[in-house]
Amino acid sequence: MQIFHGRAADKPSESRGPTFTGQVWADPVMPASGGVMVNEVFFTPGARTHWHTHGQGQVLQVKAGKGWVCVEGQAAQAIRPGDTVWIPADERHWHGAAADSFLLHTAISVGGTTWQDAVTEDAYRSATA
Ligand code: MN
Repeated sequence: MQIFHGRAADKPSESRGPTFTGQVWADPVMPASGGVMVNEVFFTPGARTHWHTHGQGQVLQVKAGKGWVCVEGQAAQAIRPGDTVWIPADERHWHGAAADSFLLHTAISVGGTTWQDAVTEDAYRSATA
C-alpha cells in the first residue's frame, strides 16, 4: 500500500503543453501506480485535449464548471458537476471546457495515453454546436 498525500505548500500546478489546445493546468494526485494515474485537470474556457486514446480506459469525474466530451464520429456531449464518464480502452476522443466556462475534472487514467492530432476550431465548434 502507498498513500499519496495532498500537494505540498510550495508545489506549483503544472501547465500542460503540446497535447492540449488553450490553457490547461493540472495537479497530479497520484503518479502512475500499477498502470493507474490520477490528475485534477483545469481547462480554461475553450481549452481541450488533443484527440487521444487510453490503453485500458479512463474515468472522468466533473467537479466544477461546464465542458464537453466527444467520441470520434459523434456529437460532443455536455458534462457538468456530478457527472462521471467512462471511456473504454482505445476509444478515440477528446474532452475540455465549454467556450463560455472553465472545467475542472478528475481524470483517472488506466494504461498509457496515446496522443494524436489537435481538435481544430472548426471541429470543436461543429461538435459542440
Ligand atoms: Mn481522455
